Amino acid sequence: CGIVGYVGHRPALDVVVEALRRMEYRGYDSAGVAVLDGRGGLAVERKAGRLANLEAELDDAGRDHFAGSTGIGHTRWATHGRPTDRNAHPHRDATGKIAVVHNGIIENFAPLRHELEAEHVDLRSDTDSEVAVHLVARAYADGPTAGDFVGSALAVLRRLEGAFTLVFTHADHPGTIVAARRSTPLVVGVGEGEMFVGSDVAAFIEHTREAVELGQDQVVVITADGYTVTNFDGNDDVPTRPFTIDWD
Ligand code: GLU
Repeated sequence: CGIVGYVGHRPALDVVVEALRRMEYRGYDSAGVAVLDGRGGLAVERKAGRLANLEAELDDAGRDHFAGSTGIGHTRWATHGRPTDRNAHPHRDATGKIAVVHNGIIENFAPLRHELEAEHVDLRSDTDSEVAVHLVARAYADGPTAGDFVGSALAVLRRLEGAFTLVFTHADHPGTIVAARRSTPLVVGVGEGEMFVGSDVAAFIEHTREAVELGQDQVVVITADGYTVTNFDGNDDVPTRPFTIDWD
């Protein structure tokens, strides 16, 4: 029930875990993080239960495995698939390079799952969410959006039905995060040499007061230095709503 993404100059793990803590009030049954090491690697940890359980796993794994300044995090409120470790987000594709976190419901997940199963894609959770990452992997591997991370994400977003906040990362594009929304919230935090996305401003209020609320069916691509908002067709002629967070 909470989502965060960070690209900047600080250790992403600390920023992301702190953001998840600040969004705990929203309620959740599982939590997870992914951090990109900037050299093509992606480290993931996810765990059912309290954020403290995830933190214990991170300590066991060794937090130095999660060095890097791009990361995403998720707290889950299960709708499809029990609240278990394997259903916790982030979900990855078969190469382990692409990760997704999702809040909401992908209503047309069943036909999309069948389509992937027919291509012998190995689905490793019972969630509706997991289809999104495999579809992006396929679009990135082959066809008109091959090698184009943002284009691949857009192509998949156009196929999804339901309500979703989705955040994608690709280990070979470590300074870029793609986030999108339909009927669930998504806010961008604009820092100095660092950018955030979150379900609400609690995700980044410690770091910046400058925010942008995304409209319906909008996508934002963030890098450390800026952001671009488009619709699902990649057209940037869309209204956005920048605002300054009032501390009260
Ligand atoms: N539908 C997804 C799941 O069950 C996301 C739930 C959520 O909003 O956290 O995993």
